[in-house]
Amino acid sequence: MSKVQSVIAYIGLGSNLENPIQQVETALQELTELKDSSLLVQSSLYRTEPIGPQHQPSYINAVAALITVLDAEGLLEQLQAIELAHRRVREGERWGPRTLDLDLLMYGRATIDTPGLQVPHPEMANRAFVLIPLSEIAPIDMDIPGMGRLQDLLFSLSGEGVERLV
Ligand code: ADP
Ligand code: MG
Repeated sequence: MSKVQSVIAYIGLGSNLENPIQQVETALQELTELKDSSLLVQSSLYRTEPIGPQHQPSYINAVAALITVLDAEGLLEQLQAIELAHRRVREGERWGPRTLDLDLLMYGRATIDTPGLQVPHPEMANRAFVLIPLSEIAPIDMDIPGMGRLQDLLFSLSGEGVERLV
């Protein structure tokens, strides 16, 4: 009998255009249908203030955990296919504005640093809109490779501008 190596991957979801709540809820549904994977658990949705340019609508963010037998590159490919499907403008051929961002935050305990894929996601340690939803669904003392324990990262961040939706 061959042994299947499954991995737990954490995915960050974000949207701030074209009904962001629905974008994120649809993407979570699509993650439940991802091949060779199953969605274990998802966080609440959060309304978060944009980082960087402030003249844009607030974001909806969430984090999900998948168990998968895809390799990291294969998983990223699947996430990008979902992103692409969400970028279509309803009535035309043209690509619409960015409506959905799916980031591979962690892939088991792997550290990956290639031009197309960095894991853990390099910005996650600085982002309350990632760490707060992550803390809902991951062990609070989880070690994030190269970054430290989730609880310590959370402790050094302000949760300002991150509001959980009921
Ligand atoms: P960001 O998520 O940083 O705002 P984009 O989603 O536009 O920006 O960036 C997409 C690019 O980032 C993709 O081409 C992908 O190859 C690369 N990338 C590198 N590491 C990751 C990761 N861990 N998750 C998602 N995309 C990644
Ligand atoms: Mg991205």
